[in-house]
Amino acid sequence: MIKQFGYFLEIVKGSLITTRHFVVNMFFHILNLVGIKTKRKGAVTRQYPEAPIEVARRHRSLHRLMLREDGKPRCVVCMLCATVCPSECIFIEATEDPDPEIQKYPSNFIIDLNRCCFCGFCVEACPEDAIRMDTGEVELARYSRGDLVYDLEKLTG
Ligand code: SF4
Ligand code: SF4
Repeated sequence: MIKQFGYFLEIVKGSLITTRHFVVNMFFHILNLVGIKTKRKGAVTRQYPEAPIEVARRHRSLHRLMLREDGKPRCVVCMLCATVCPSECIFIEATEDPDPEIQKYPSNFIIDLNRCCFCGFCVEACPEDAIRMDTGEVELARYSRGDLVYDLEKLTG
């Protein structure tokens, strides 16, 4: 009899814990629905992908190449990014620039995202602030590997 009572007691305790979690989570979920933000983010179910997730500003997302005011890439083809890249996934074609101040510009700049590990070394190494990883684009699933090879047009687009 005592054993059966103990068993029943554990069921009641378990039900109370479940109910407490349900009520607390529902409370925070309703606050979120009416636009009141709290620190209890875990209590709110994200409706992804219908509601996109917020990416922190410092998050390393898809690369982009920065442009000068005249529309040309800021990159001067110093090759530091390609040299420092641990995945060896940056390929740059250099072309001579008529401007002696610039000397070279990339006629093509390819980043193979199939191999990129998003370490951010290329961004840190660049002396011209020509490459950044601040697009906020993190949805990089593709149907083919070729779609993950980003060229100059895609990186400046
Ligand atoms: S983030 Fe890292 S792996 Fe990707 S291209 Fe830059 S240096 Fe290479
Ligand atoms: S480090 Fe910067 S300037 Fe040098 S090749 Fe890479 S993107 Fe261009």
